[in-house]
Order: sequence, then C-alpha cells, then structure tokens
Amino acid sequence: MDAQHEARIVDAVEKRLFIDGKWVDAADRRTLDVIDPATGKTLCAVADASPSDGRAALDAAVAAQSAFAATSPRERSDMLTGAFELLHERIDDLAWLMTLEMGKPLAEARGEIAYAADFFRHFAGEAVRIDGGYQTSPAGGARFLVARQPVGPCLLITPWNFPMAMGTRKLGPAIAAGCTSVIKPAAQTPLSMLALMDILAEAGVPAGVVNCITASDAGGVMEPLIRSGLARKLSFTGSTAVGRLLLEQCAEKILRTSLELGGNAPFIVFEDADLDEAVEGAIAAKMRNMGEACTAANRIYVHASVIDEFGRLLADRMAALPVGRGTEDGVKVGPLIDEAGLRKVQSLVADAVERGATVLTGGSAPGGNGFFYPPTVLTGVPREAKMADQEIFGPVAPLTPFDSEAEVIAAANDTEYGLVSYVFTNDLRRALRVAEALETGMVGLNQGVVSNPAAPFGGMKQSGLGREGGAVGIDEFLETKYIGIAMG
Ligand code: NAP
Repeated sequence: MDAQHEARIVDAVEKRLFIDGKWVDAADRRTLDVIDPATGKTLCAVADASPSDGRAALDAAVAAQSAFAATSPRERSDMLTGAFELLHERIDDLAWLMTLEMGKPLAEARGEIAYAADFFRHFAGEAVRIDGGYQTSPAGGARFLVARQPVGPCLLITPWNFPMAMGTRKLGPAIAAGCTSVIKPAAQTPLSMLALMDILAEAGVPAGVVNCITASDAGGVMEPLIRSGLARKLSFTGSTAVGRLLLEQCAEKILRTSLELGGNAPFIVFEDADLDEAVEGAIAAKMRNMGEACTAANRIYVHASVIDEFGRLLADRMAALPVGRGTEDGVKVGPLIDEAGLRKVQSLVADAVERGATVLTGGSAPGGNGFFYPPTVLTGVPREAKMADQEIFGPVAPLTPFDSEAEVIAAANDTEYGLVSYVFTNDLRRALRVAEALETGMVGLNQGVVSNPAAPFGGMKQSGLGREGGAVGIDEFLETKYIGIAMG
C-alpha cells in the first residue's frame, strides 16, 4: 500500500474531541502530535484537551446518564451488536490505522480489532442477562428484592499497547450496564479510539453516552474529574505506578475502582512438557505485541535438564522472525513504541549480561530510524537482574534454570505483581498443584495466550483490582440494590 493510501486512512479519522455527540476542538485549540514508531515521524496531530474540555465531557456524560439508564437492555445490546458488525466491516482500515500509530504488525492489528469487537459481542449478550433476586427473609414475614442498576458516569483510561481492545473491554460492559462514560486513550495512540467514536454513533449510541478526550497532560485533565464527585467509577488500564496514584485520588470521593495494571509473568517449563509446544507457547506469550503486553512472559523458568534444548529451539525460532515496519508483508516484529521504551529494553539487557546472562540470539538494536529491537533470547539470567523485577516490555526472553517444583513456585511468586502465569507440563496433578499455588489472577496451562472476552481477565497483588470480561465483567459497572418488602 502506498503513502497516499496511508494518508487517506489517517485523514479519514476525526482528530478532535468527541463530546456530547459532536466533534469539537480543544478549548484553547492546542494539538498533540501522533508519531509513527516505525519511522519516528509525525503522522498527524489530534486535539489536546484542557481541564475545561475534560469537564465538558464529564458534564455531557452526567447529563446523559439517567436517560441512558432507562433504555432497555435489548436496545443497549443492539447498539453493541451494531458496533461489533461495523468493526468487522472496517477491519482493514482500522488495522492499518492501529499499525501506523502503534507499530504492531498488520496481522496482529487485525487480530486486535477482532478481539476488541468480541468484547462488544460478548457484552451484547450480558446486557440482556442482568438479573436480580426475590427471596423470603429467613424469619419469614418479609421479602428481599435484589435489583442491579448502572453505577453511573464512568471515567475510563487506557494504555497505548492495545489501542482498541483496552477501550472496548471497558466500553462494552459500561454500555451493556447502562453507564455513560468519558474515555481517555493514551496520548501516543489516540486514533483507534477516535475512529471508534464514529462507529458507536452509527451503531445508535446516543449523544453524551460515550465521550472521548485526548490530552498530553493526562494527570492535569483527569485528576479534577476524579475528584469532582460527578463520576461514580474509574476503570483504568496501565502501569502499577499510575494505578496507585489514581487509587489515592479515587479515595477522596470513594469512586468504584477497577485497575488492570502491570505484570511480571512467570513462564514455567517442566521436564515432562512437550518442548515444541512449550516453545510455541513461549513465542506467543513473549512476542505478541513485540513483548509490549502486561501478559508477556517476563521470566522464563526451564527445568535444568531441558533448558539447553529449549534455549536452542527458542533462539532458532526467535531469530527467524522478520523485523520491520508493521505494514510490510511478512513482518512479525514491529518497532517498540518510542525511544524511552527502546532505551529501557537496551539497559535491561545490558544489566542482565553484566550479571552473567548469555545472549543466545539478538541483544543489540540495529540503529537507524524507528524504535526497533531484535527478538532476543538470554539464558542463565540471575535473580539479581533488573528484568526479574521489572516489566521488560520488549521482545526479550530471559531463561533461568530450576531444579524442583517447590523452588520454581517460590521464584515465580517472588514479585509484587500477580497478573498471569504460564505452566507447561504433561502431568495433570502437577499442573493443577502448581496452578493453585501461583499467586496470579490467570494461569495458562500448556498455552501461551489467556486473553478471551468470555473469560475473567485481571490480576492479584499489585497487578490490579477487579476483573474485565467474562460473566463477571459487567458486575464492575453495576450496583446491587436491596429492597426490603414488608408482608402481611
Ligand atoms: P501508563 O503510563 O500508566 O498510562 C496508561 C494511561 O494512563 C494512559 O492513557 C496515560 O496517559 C494515562 N495516565 C498517565 N498518567 C496519568 C495520570 N497521572 N492521571 C491520569 N491518567 C494518567 O501506562 P502505559 O505505559 O500507557 O501502558 C503500559 C502499562 O499498562 C504496562 O504497565 C502494562 O503492563 C499495563 N497494561 C496492563 C493491562 C492489564 O490488563 N493488566 C493491559 C495492558 C497494559 P498518557 O498516554 O498521556 O501518558
């Protein structure tokens, strides 16, 4: 596809703020640049909201709340189904747009649009299944009626690594439950969410129900909204550091809070695992999104008796993955998001090597334009390496040997994070024993991908609060109201 076609795709997206069903400039007409991480060049500029724009967006959400709560579940379900269908109709252009702003290869971007759409399909089903209860009190003589109601206006904040799916994972249940919202995508990847606003409007979502603001000063715009008392809930996906800060801000007005935060996933390969299957699983868990995923395998523990063979197989597979601009045919590994991301990966690898790790493949950036880093496998990575504690957020697979089940469980749990873990073994009892012992919200057994809109996604410890997706995903957007009824 030529540069003109790319320009057409970028030009087709509205670059302003979406407030109360209308596209508007930022009050002070400021803009912020969106960079193509494959070239380091500016793609376009979008509106840069000020705190007053944020307040206008929240006011619109508040004004729309009671009418939206009164819509029927079937109407809300139909809106979500319509948006699901439109996402699929436009998947080609939306995938290109995502690759341009975020860098992931086109095939992965298409996969993300389909995944994102599935949250709408899933919550279209949940909208019409919101239930309640009717019960006789234990002593008799009274009845308990239990109803579920929308929480109210929500603030939704999403990261750059999954520009569409992290938004639909929140908007799907919010719309299904009857909540209005203000969504703020990451400043680095605002285009996918802006494109979604037109789709939601076309699917019949009323003005004011979903508002979208893009801003360079995320804290300056969002903190007054969180502290205003007008919003009833915050749902945030991003780093643990920012999540902690937002939780403190939410404390002031006791906002309902859902946090999907960072991860430090252990990936454990036992000696009885099918090694080819484990290598495929490691590629999936490590290389999805160039390793820029909260679910990325961050510490790969391999039984000492098979680590050499596993390392060789993994290094061969990783070395063969083509690196390049995500829009090019056959590319499997795109650029990292920015210079800071690239520098972080470089310094973590240098630190691990200094502490005794051996490079099996990759290990140094090619230089030139764009923020590229090659698929890298390190072996013999010691516990003291910084990457054992920090999210690498890059295509680097660090291997560490272990000897016993107890030892590897202790090592896997030796982190403040608790999002996901992966276990490869053909012993069913061991699989269940280890899965139960791991302190993570999700476990992949003999598989390297756990994300699924129909499953409850979320973490323990400092990886977050609450769950998104699954049957419970809508609970985060519903209040439970009990009505006591006197009888006789
Ligand atoms: P981030 O720096 O925490 O930013 C996430 C979002 O929060 C962005 O929209 C950002 O805006 C905004 N933000 C930053 N500071 C803020 C503040 N003071 N007040 C309000 N909003 C603020 O994270 P990121 O670098 O974009 O994303 C990577 C992180 O997300 C990783 O830690 C990853 O593990 C995590 N993640 C978790 C999940 C999960 O489901 N558990 C999924 C995906 C990613 P700006 O863009 O303007 O900075």
